[in-house]
Amino acid sequence: MAHFSDLGDFVQQLPKTETHLHLEGSLPLELARKLDPEKFAEPPPYWRPDFRFHDFAEFQEQFDRYFFHWFVSPENYYDSCKIVFERLVAQNCVYLEASFHLGVAENLSVPFREVARAIHAASPPELEFRLFLGMFRDHYQGQLAGLLDEAITWDEIAGVDLHGFEHPAFQRWSAEVWSRVRSLGKVTKAHAGEFSSAEDVRQAVIDLGVRRVQHGLRAIDDPTVVEMLKTEEVTLDMTPISNVKLMAVPSMREHPIRQFMRAGINCTISTDDPMLFGNSLNGEYMGLANDAGFTRGDLVQLASNGFAVADLSTEKKQEFFARLDQTLGRSTGHGAGG
Ligand SMILES: [Zn+2]
Repeated sequence: MAHFSDLGDFVQQLPKTETHLHLEGSLPLELARKLDPEKFAEPPPYWRPDFRFHDFAEFQEQFDRYFFHWFVSPENYYDSCKIVFERLVAQNCVYLEASFHLGVAENLSVPFREVARAIHAASPPELEFRLFLGMFRDHYQGQLAGLLDEAITWDEIAGVDLHGFEHPAFQRWSAEVWSRVRSLGKVTKAHAGEFSSAEDVRQAVIDLGVRRVQHGLRAIDDPTVVEMLKTEEVTLDMTPISNVKLMAVPSMREHPIRQFMRAGINCTISTDDPMLFGNSLNGEYMGLANDAGFTRGDLVQLASNGFAVADLSTEKKQEFFARLDQTLGRSTGHGAGG
């Protein structure tokens, strides 16, 4: 029986999910090079492990300056996603939830739905893929409002997400649209509590009605919000390396993910924007093991949490839970024992 003495082999063998990924922040380096051969001749400085963004604005500015310029056609989305999806599959990622940005519709010369179709066309058969439509908190205006109303009904769209700056507070339209999305049987998410506050996380859950909070870090500041996350069975889709590089947490070791897990909250890990952080899905698992003392059992728990919240049949989930137990059993030389 194979025995994984090497942590890297063990992480590679784990079937995994990625449930917090922005497609525009995932542009592969080789395609960024086509945008600006000089700037991206070498990996950008923000790929260095010790790099820190001064603030969220510095991070967001890279999208406006470079990456949104790639995502101007269905063909370009396809080319980028093809590479991104293949690399995830190569890391044994079997389930993916990724978002594309509503705002790109303003620069398109073809119907927006063509983009959604191109992204799906890039997904290989071995990957269970769910596409989310992401947008800023103030995006419900002008042509985008009508487009959003229409797009939420498309088969290609599994759900919606709010991203970008976490202020201003959620606007009134979001609760109404988010409720409509859920009535269509789809999933609603929101970024909250990366830099904002525990109160912002509370509003995402209570006012918007989401059960999937992206980041949610600051909830740790208010025990009543932590309790509410548990009671309402909210999942936190966390991205530790992104959080460190954006200085939302001081270090991997001080990341609150462990506290949330101890409090009984379902936490998953993902990469957020690999082009901006130089990270990989396996690297997130390795980072928690090497820098935050996560055991192999903890890593299996994280992968398992991703399947628990995934939009998969019960049978499919059981299959992945069993594979996770087997991988841990092979690692420790005996069965995981449940
Ligand atoms: Zn994000």
